[in-house]
Amino acid sequence: MSDDDKKAPRGDNGGENGGERLSETRFSRTRKKREMPGGLWLKCENCGQMIYRKELEEKSRVCPACEFHFTLPGKERVAHLIDEDTWKEYFPDIRALDRLEFNDQIPYLDKVRRAEERTGQAEALICGSGAIEGREVVLAVLDFSFMGGSMGEVVGEKLALAAELATKLKRPLVIFTSSGGARMHEGVLSLMQMAKTCAALAEFGDAGGFSVCVMTHPTTGGVTASFASVCDVTLAEPGALIGFAGPRVIASTIRQELPAGFQRAEFLLEKGQIDRIVRRSEMKSMLARLLDYAKGSKIEPKKR
Ligand SMILES: [Zn+2]
Repeated sequence: MSDDDKKAPRGDNGGENGGERLSETRFSRTRKKREMPGGLWLKCENCGQMIYRKELEEKSRVCPACEFHFTLPGKERVAHLIDEDTWKEYFPDIRALDRLEFNDQIPYLDKVRRAEERTGQAEALICGSGAIEGREVVLAVLDFSFMGGSMGEVVGEKLALAAELATKLKRPLVIFTSSGGARMHEGVLSLMQMAKTCAALAEFGDAGGFSVCVMTHPTTGGVTASFASVCDVTLAEPGALIGFAGPRVIASTIRQELPAGFQRAEFLLEKGQIDRIVRRSEMKSMLARLLDYAKGSKIEPKKR
């Protein structure tokens, strides 16, 4: 296992590049280990430093020793970005269907239910409206703690609805991703969401809408290959793993050693896939600046 694989958080992960390969027993054990333990101290997964939990939480889950940006749960992300008392959540009750009656030791819908109990939300995408330093936006946050932020029909639908809402409210659309990729339990229906989300963003762009996507650790698979990569501006958090297939798969397919820093945000910035790397502590002010630049863009919804 490479360092990259070790660093990607694994949980009840439904994505292409997630923990589905693990057997159920291994996966429960892994989950216990990977989730933040209940103690006062925890070990940084990047530098190994012991960190006082409260200090980590105060620093929005950025390691005080090495600045490693831990994956932020969806609700914390919303709280971190959105001005107090401006948040209004939309479409919170859309739930997954098990059209394929998928069962791999545990029926698919049981897995969804478990994720729902653990996170207190019905799906992996949180969508709503609110203000970032006074600038009104529609925000969509993909939450890794809900089945590895995997994209099934509901995530695709909610992302498309978020684009439509932004058009209707005439606001910019801000998206945060962290994902293992397409949700394998929904088969080809999950892959269809790649086209659907891109079409929704294209329509939003054609109507004059401005969109920003921030890729956070880790953003992989069908999410990277669809809506995360087609916004007007693409940002990333430092050190984020961003890619399509995992580094191990690529290395064994092409039988070559991968360059240092492969699939990390810094590497992708150098290659031109992302526009800028922004620290979590500077994220709000950077978004506010970008939203100010886009103020002139007028959203004119097409009449149907
Ligand atoms: Zn660290």
